[in-house]
Amino acid sequence: MSALSDLHRDMRTCVKCPILVKSRTQVVPGVGAEDAKIMFVGEAPGFNEDRQGEPFVGAAGAFLNELLASISLKRGQVFIANVIKCRPLENREPMPYEIQNCRPWLDAQIALIQPQIIVTLGRFAMDAFLPGKSISKVHGQAFRQGNVTYFAMYHPAAALYQQSQREVIKNDILKLPQILAAAKNETEVKKEEPRQMTMF
Ligand code: URA
Repeated sequence: MSALSDLHRDMRTCVKCPILVKSRTQVVPGVGAEDAKIMFVGEAPGFNEDRQGEPFVGAAGAFLNELLASISLKRGQVFIANVIKCRPLENREPMPYEIQNCRPWLDAQIALIQPQIIVTLGRFAMDAFLPGKSISKVHGQAFRQGNVTYFAMYHPAAALYQQSQREVIKNDILKLPQILAAAKNETEVKKEEPRQMTMF
């Protein structure tokens, strides 16, 4: 058993959020390579994810797979997780205290995987790492803080409702290989504020 699978085992019995404990079928810790260089973080499991125990397996997940394929990546080469690990009923937005309660699980995943890049999918994931930023302004941009480069993208589900968003997301992900190459040469940035990387 790896440290990450131990963590996921512990996560599966979490009862910190009573409302989510009732609404979930199971906890959805995350999936992918334990040594992934790129980690994708979404919002919360939906209906299909809750049933299957895996993030991004529904319609948004199919689009995420397509995005990964566009840069020659498969799901198994990255790590995919969410800001909160349990499904909120009716796919409502996560509540601030739920995000706060779940944060230690996400941080522990990051500490074990040690990704070079964290791709935030949607507003909630962006807020978790790049607080105060507006997604309409910073999507497709990379920020460096500590040892990690953060890359903000719109949520793939946004593309399901708006064709124009689909094109934006498809263009944004094409920057990822270059950002990964640049991240390898980056040094640690110990600033309080994430520093924008100026390659685009
Ligand atoms: N949307 C998310 O944010 N996460 C999932 O796992 C599925 C859909």
